Amino acid sequence: ITAPDVHPIQEVLNQVHEKYRSLNLGTPATYIPELAKTDPKLFGICIVTVDGEQFSVGDAEQLFTIQSISKVFVHGLALEDHGREQVLSKVGVEPTGDAFNAIVLDEQSKRPYNPMVNAGAIATTSLIKGQGASERLNRMLAMFERYIGHESYIDMPTFMSERTTGFRNRAMAYLMRNFGMIDDRIDESLDLYFQQCSLMVNCCDLATMAATLANQGKNPRTGVQAVPSRYVRDMLSVMYMCGMYNYSGEWAYRVGLPAKSGVSGGLMVVVPGRLGLGIFSPPLDERGNSVRGVKVCEDLSEQFGLHLFECE
Ligand code: GLN
Repeated sequence: ITAPDVHPIQEVLNQVHEKYRSLNLGTPATYIPELAKTDPKLFGICIVTVDGEQFSVGDAEQLFTIQSISKVFVHGLALEDHGREQVLSKVGVEPTGDAFNAIVLDEQSKRPYNPMVNAGAIATTSLIKGQGASERLNRMLAMFERYIGHESYIDMPTFMSERTTGFRNRAMAYLMRNFGMIDDRIDESLDLYFQQCSLMVNCCDLATMAATLANQGKNPRTGVQAVPSRYVRDMLSVMYMCGMYNYSGEWAYRVGLPAKSGVSGGLMVVVPGRLGLGIFSPPLDERGNSVRGVKVCEDLSEQFGLHLFECE
Protein backbone atom coordinates (compact mmCIF):
# COMPACT_ATOMS: atom_id res chain seq x y z
CA ILE A 1 0.00 0.00 0.00
CA THR A 2 1.41 3.41 -0.96
CA ALA A 3 0.60 6.57 0.96
CA PRO A 4 -1.88 8.87 -0.80
CA ASP A 5 0.01 11.41 -2.88
CA VAL A 6 0.37 14.79 -1.26
CA HIS A 7 0.84 17.59 -3.78
CA PRO A 8 4.36 19.07 -3.45
CA ILE A 9 2.93 22.57 -2.79
CA GLN A 10 0.74 21.17 0.00
CA GLU A 11 3.76 19.44 1.49
CA VAL A 12 5.73 22.70 1.53
CA LEU A 13 2.83 24.55 3.18
CA ASN A 14 2.53 21.86 5.86
CA GLN A 15 6.26 22.09 6.54
CA VAL A 16 6.50 25.88 6.90
CA HIS A 17 3.32 25.97 8.98
CA GLU A 18 4.75 23.38 11.37
CA LYS A 19 8.13 25.14 11.46
CA TYR A 20 6.84 28.60 12.44
CA ARG A 21 3.71 27.66 14.40
CA SER A 22 5.56 27.80 17.73
CA LEU A 23 7.37 31.07 16.97
CA ASN A 24 5.78 33.20 19.70
CA LEU A 25 7.18 36.67 19.03
CA GLY A 26 5.41 39.99 18.49
CA THR A 27 2.06 41.28 19.69
CA PRO A 28 -1.26 41.86 17.94
CA ALA A 29 -2.25 45.48 17.30
CA THR A 30 -4.16 47.08 20.16
CA TYR A 31 -5.25 50.48 18.85
CA ILE A 32 -8.85 49.29 18.60
CA PRO A 33 -10.50 46.64 20.83
CA GLU A 34 -11.56 44.56 17.80
CA LEU A 35 -7.91 43.90 16.94
CA ALA A 36 -6.69 43.48 20.54
CA LYS A 37 -9.25 40.70 21.12
CA THR A 38 -7.74 38.45 18.44
CA ASP A 39 -6.13 35.06 19.27
CA PRO A 40 -2.33 35.33 18.74
CA LYS A 41 -2.14 31.60 17.96
CA LEU A 42 -4.24 31.89 14.77
CA PHE A 43 -2.03 31.00 11.81
CA GLY A 44 -3.15 30.22 8.29
CA ILE A 45 -1.44 30.08 4.90
CA CYS A 46 -2.99 29.74 1.46
CA ILE A 47 -1.59 29.57 -2.08
CA VAL A 48 -3.62 30.08 -5.24
CA THR A 49 -1.82 29.44 -8.54
CA VAL A 50 -2.46 31.26 -11.81
CA ASP A 51 -4.08 27.99 -12.97
CA GLY A 52 -6.64 28.43 -10.21
CA GLU A 53 -5.41 25.62 -7.96
CA GLN A 54 -5.69 26.28 -4.22
CA PHE A 55 -3.68 24.86 -1.30
CA SER A 56 -4.02 25.82 2.35
CA VAL A 57 -2.96 24.92 5.87
CA GLY A 58 -3.96 25.95 9.40
CA ASP A 59 -6.56 28.65 10.09
CA ALA A 60 -7.01 29.48 6.41
CA GLU A 61 -10.79 29.97 6.79
CA GLN A 62 -10.51 32.39 9.72
CA LEU A 63 -11.96 35.79 8.82
CA PHE A 64 -10.18 39.04 9.74
CA THR A 65 -10.29 42.67 8.62
CA ILE A 66 -8.17 43.35 5.54
CA GLN A 67 -6.84 46.71 6.85
CA SER A 68 -3.95 48.20 4.86
CA ILE A 69 -3.94 45.43 2.26
CA SER A 70 -7.04 47.13 0.85
CA LYS A 71 -4.84 50.06 -0.23
CA VAL A 72 -3.42 48.08 -3.15
CA PHE A 73 -6.84 47.45 -4.67
CA VAL A 74 -8.24 50.91 -4.10
CA HIS A 75 -5.13 52.24 -5.86
CA GLY A 76 -6.13 50.00 -8.79
CA LEU A 77 -9.67 51.40 -8.77
CA ALA A 78 -8.36 54.99 -8.70
CA LEU A 79 -6.18 54.18 -11.74
CA GLU A 80 -9.15 52.67 -13.50
CA ASP A 81 -11.30 55.73 -12.70
CA HIS A 82 -8.76 58.42 -13.58
CA GLY A 83 -5.74 56.99 -15.42
CA ARG A 84 -2.07 56.97 -14.48
CA GLU A 85 -1.16 60.64 -14.87
CA GLN A 86 -4.18 61.99 -13.03
CA VAL A 87 -3.60 59.68 -10.05
CA LEU A 88 0.10 60.54 -10.06
CA SER A 89 -0.75 64.24 -9.82
CA LYS A 90 -2.51 63.60 -6.48
CA VAL A 91 -0.42 60.77 -4.96
CA GLY A 92 3.30 60.15 -5.46
CA VAL A 93 5.12 56.83 -5.84
CA GLU A 94 8.12 57.45 -3.57
CA PRO A 95 8.88 55.17 -0.62
CA THR A 96 9.11 57.08 2.66
CA GLY A 97 10.98 55.14 5.32
CA ASP A 98 8.51 56.80 7.73
CA ALA A 99 5.79 55.04 9.67
CA PHE A 100 2.56 54.32 7.78
CA ASN A 101 0.61 56.92 9.75
CA ALA A 102 3.18 59.75 9.51
CA ILE A 103 1.68 63.17 8.93
CA VAL A 104 3.97 64.20 6.11
CA LEU A 105 3.47 65.38 2.53
CA ASP A 106 6.06 65.92 -0.21
CA GLU A 107 7.66 69.32 0.47
CA GLN A 108 7.38 70.57 -3.11
CA SER A 109 4.35 68.91 -4.70
CA LYS A 110 2.34 68.65 -1.43
CA ARG A 111 1.30 65.17 -2.51
CA PRO A 112 1.27 62.29 -0.06
CA TYR A 113 4.32 60.11 -0.77
CA ASN A 114 2.64 56.94 -2.05
CA PRO A 115 -0.69 55.05 -2.02
CA MET A 116 0.48 52.57 0.67
CA VAL A 117 0.88 55.07 3.54
CA ASN A 118 -2.35 56.24 5.18
CA ALA A 119 -2.25 59.74 3.71
CA GLY A 120 -1.78 58.39 0.18
CA ALA A 121 -4.42 55.74 0.70
CA ILE A 122 -6.97 58.33 1.85
CA ALA A 123 -6.11 60.36 -1.27
CA THR A 124 -6.63 57.35 -3.58
CA THR A 125 -9.89 56.49 -1.80
CA SER A 126 -11.06 60.07 -2.32
CA LEU A 127 -10.63 59.47 -6.08
CA ILE A 128 -13.23 56.69 -6.19
CA LYS A 129 -15.98 57.89 -8.52
CA GLY A 130 -19.69 57.82 -7.75
CA GLN A 131 -22.71 59.94 -6.76
CA GLY A 132 -22.72 60.02 -2.97
CA ALA A 133 -21.53 57.65 -0.27
CA SER A 134 -23.54 54.54 -1.13
CA GLU A 135 -22.74 54.50 -4.85
CA ARG A 136 -19.05 54.93 -4.09
CA LEU A 137 -19.16 52.19 -1.44
CA ASN A 138 -20.98 49.85 -3.81
CA ARG A 139 -18.41 50.44 -6.55
CA MET A 140 -15.66 49.68 -4.06
CA LEU A 141 -17.36 46.48 -2.83
CA ALA A 142 -17.96 45.35 -6.44
CA MET A 143 -14.26 45.91 -7.14
CA PHE A 144 -13.25 43.75 -4.13
CA GLU A 145 -15.71 41.07 -5.23
CA ARG A 146 -14.01 40.79 -8.63
CA TYR A 147 -10.68 39.99 -6.94
CA ILE A 148 -12.08 37.74 -4.20
CA GLY A 149 -14.57 35.87 -6.37
CA HIS A 150 -17.47 36.20 -3.94
CA GLU A 151 -19.26 38.88 -1.94
CA SER A 152 -17.67 40.10 1.28
CA TYR A 153 -18.92 42.36 4.05
CA ILE A 154 -17.71 45.18 6.26
CA ASP A 155 -17.25 44.47 9.95
CA MET A 156 -19.38 47.11 11.67
CA PRO A 157 -17.63 47.18 15.11
CA THR A 158 -14.22 47.66 13.44
CA PHE A 159 -15.57 50.34 11.13
CA MET A 160 -17.17 52.22 14.05
CA SER A 161 -13.97 51.99 16.12
CA GLU A 162 -11.78 53.19 13.27
CA ARG A 163 -14.21 55.99 12.63
CA THR A 164 -14.41 57.22 16.23
CA THR A 165 -10.69 56.93 16.99
CA GLY A 166 -9.17 57.89 13.61
CA PHE A 167 -8.23 61.45 14.55
CA ARG A 168 -4.85 61.17 12.90
CA ASN A 169 -6.32 60.00 9.60
CA ARG A 170 -8.89 62.79 9.87
CA ALA A 171 -6.12 65.35 10.43
CA MET A 172 -4.25 64.12 7.36
CA ALA A 173 -7.38 64.32 5.22
CA TYR A 174 -7.98 67.94 6.24
CA LEU A 175 -4.33 68.79 5.64
CA MET A 176 -4.57 67.29 2.15
CA ARG A 177 -7.79 69.23 1.51
CA ASN A 178 -5.89 72.37 2.40
CA PHE A 179 -3.37 71.62 -0.36
CA GLY A 180 -6.02 70.64 -2.90
CA MET A 181 -4.96 66.99 -2.98
CA ILE A 182 -8.45 65.74 -2.12
CA ASP A 183 -11.86 67.24 -2.87
CA ASP A 184 -14.57 68.54 -0.51
CA ARG A 185 -16.05 65.11 0.23
CA ILE A 186 -13.64 64.81 3.15
CA ASP A 187 -15.79 62.98 5.71
CA GLU A 188 -17.42 60.82 3.06
CA SER A 189 -14.01 59.72 1.77
CA LEU A 190 -12.76 59.08 5.32
CA ASP A 191 -15.78 56.84 5.95
CA LEU A 192 -15.01 54.97 2.73
CA TYR A 193 -11.40 54.57 3.86
CA PHE A 194 -12.46 53.21 7.28
CA GLN A 195 -14.91 50.88 5.52
CA GLN A 196 -12.30 49.50 3.11
CA CYS A 197 -10.01 48.74 6.08
CA SER A 198 -12.88 46.85 7.79
CA LEU A 199 -13.60 44.45 4.91
CA MET A 200 -13.65 40.82 6.10
CA VAL A 201 -11.39 38.33 4.29
CA ASN A 202 -9.57 35.08 5.01
CA CYS A 203 -6.15 33.82 3.84
CA CYS A 204 -7.59 32.14 0.77
CA ASP A 205 -9.33 35.37 -0.24
CA LEU A 206 -5.97 37.16 0.04
CA ALA A 207 -4.26 34.42 -1.98
CA THR A 208 -6.92 34.68 -4.69
CA MET A 209 -6.56 38.47 -4.79
CA ALA A 210 -2.76 38.11 -5.07
CA ALA A 211 -3.13 35.39 -7.74
CA THR A 212 -5.34 37.79 -9.71
CA LEU A 213 -2.49 40.30 -9.73
CA ALA A 214 -0.02 37.50 -10.60
CA ASN A 215 -2.34 36.65 -13.53
CA GLN A 216 -2.43 40.09 -15.23
CA GLY A 217 -5.50 41.21 -13.32
CA LYS A 218 -7.69 38.23 -14.23
CA ASN A 219 -9.08 36.18 -11.34
CA PRO A 220 -7.79 32.66 -12.07
CA ARG A 221 -10.69 30.99 -10.24
CA THR A 222 -13.58 32.89 -11.86
CA GLY A 223 -12.03 34.15 -15.11
CA VAL A 224 -13.25 37.69 -14.27
CA GLN A 225 -10.96 40.60 -15.23
CA ALA A 226 -10.74 42.45 -11.89
CA VAL A 227 -8.73 45.42 -13.16
CA PRO A 228 -7.51 46.40 -16.66
CA SER A 229 -4.20 44.58 -17.17
CA ARG A 230 -2.35 47.81 -18.00
CA TYR A 231 -2.67 48.97 -14.36
CA VAL A 232 -1.29 45.81 -12.77
CA ARG A 233 2.30 46.94 -13.22
CA ASP A 234 1.51 50.24 -11.42
CA MET A 235 -0.03 48.38 -8.50
CA LEU A 236 2.82 45.87 -8.26
CA SER A 237 5.63 48.40 -8.51
CA VAL A 238 4.16 50.47 -5.68
CA MET A 239 3.68 47.31 -3.59
CA TYR A 240 7.27 46.30 -4.29
CA MET A 241 8.67 49.63 -3.12
CA CYS A 242 6.25 50.53 -0.32
CA GLY A 243 4.12 47.52 0.69
CA MET A 244 5.79 46.46 3.94
CA TYR A 245 5.81 49.78 5.83
CA ASN A 246 9.32 50.89 6.79
CA TYR A 247 10.64 47.38 6.23
CA SER A 248 9.89 47.68 2.50
CA GLY A 249 13.52 48.16 1.43
CA GLU A 250 14.88 45.22 3.37
CA TRP A 251 11.91 43.11 2.29
CA ALA A 252 12.59 43.88 -1.40
CA TYR A 253 16.23 43.00 -0.81
CA ARG A 254 15.64 39.76 1.09
CA VAL A 255 12.37 38.38 -0.34
CA GLY A 256 12.27 40.24 -3.66
CA LEU A 257 8.51 40.05 -4.27
CA PRO A 258 5.69 42.63 -4.28
CA ALA A 259 3.73 42.28 -1.04
CA LYS A 260 1.38 44.15 1.29
CA SER A 261 0.81 43.71 4.99
CA GLY A 262 -1.97 44.96 7.27
CA VAL A 263 -2.25 45.77 10.95
CA SER A 264 -4.61 42.84 11.67
CA GLY A 265 -1.81 40.38 10.75
CA GLY A 266 -2.63 39.68 7.12
CA LEU A 267 0.05 39.48 4.45
CA MET A 268 -0.39 39.12 0.71
CA VAL A 269 2.45 38.28 -1.69
CA VAL A 270 2.45 38.15 -5.50
CA VAL A 271 4.76 35.87 -7.49
CA PRO A 272 4.15 37.35 -10.96
CA GLY A 273 3.07 34.83 -13.58
CA ARG A 274 2.95 32.06 -10.97
CA LEU A 275 0.91 32.40 -7.82
CA GLY A 276 -0.55 34.43 -4.98
CA LEU A 277 0.16 33.80 -1.31
CA GLY A 278 -2.03 34.83 1.64
CA ILE A 279 -0.94 34.53 5.27
CA PHE A 280 -2.71 35.40 8.51
CA SER A 281 -0.97 35.55 11.90
CA PRO A 282 -1.86 38.49 14.19
CA PRO A 283 1.35 39.08 16.25
CA LEU A 284 3.23 42.00 14.67
CA ASP A 285 6.87 43.08 14.85
CA GLU A 286 7.88 46.65 15.77
CA ARG A 287 7.31 47.81 12.18
CA GLY A 288 3.77 46.43 12.04
CA ASN A 289 4.35 43.34 9.89
CA SER A 290 3.16 39.84 10.87
CA VAL A 291 6.12 38.06 12.50
CA ARG A 292 5.24 34.57 11.25
CA GLY A 293 4.15 36.00 7.89
CA VAL A 294 7.55 37.58 7.24
CA LYS A 295 9.38 34.40 8.34
CA VAL A 296 7.30 32.17 6.06
CA CYS A 297 7.96 34.42 3.07
CA GLU A 298 11.70 34.71 3.70
CA ASP A 299 11.85 30.93 3.97
CA LEU A 300 9.78 30.20 0.83
CA SER A 301 11.59 32.82 -1.26
CA GLU A 302 14.97 31.37 -0.25
CA GLN A 303 13.94 27.71 -0.70
CA PHE A 304 12.42 28.19 -4.15
CA GLY A 305 14.50 31.06 -5.50
CA LEU A 306 11.44 33.30 -5.86
CA HIS A 307 13.34 36.62 -5.63
CA LEU A 308 12.51 38.56 -8.82
CA PHE A 309 16.20 39.20 -9.47
CA GLU A 310 17.44 35.72 -8.64
CA CYS A 311 20.08 34.63 -11.17
CA GLU A 312 20.87 31.07 -10.11
N1 GLN B 1 -7.21 51.30 9.58
C1 GLN B 1 -5.83 51.43 9.86
C2 GLN B 1 -5.43 52.88 9.96
O1 GLN B 1 -5.72 53.66 9.09
C3 GLN B 1 -5.02 50.70 8.81
C4 GLN B 1 -3.65 50.61 9.22
C5 GLN B 1 -2.86 49.46 8.71
O2 GLN B 1 -3.26 48.33 8.43
N2 GLN B 1 -1.60 49.74 8.74
O3 GLN B 1 -4.83 53.27 10.94
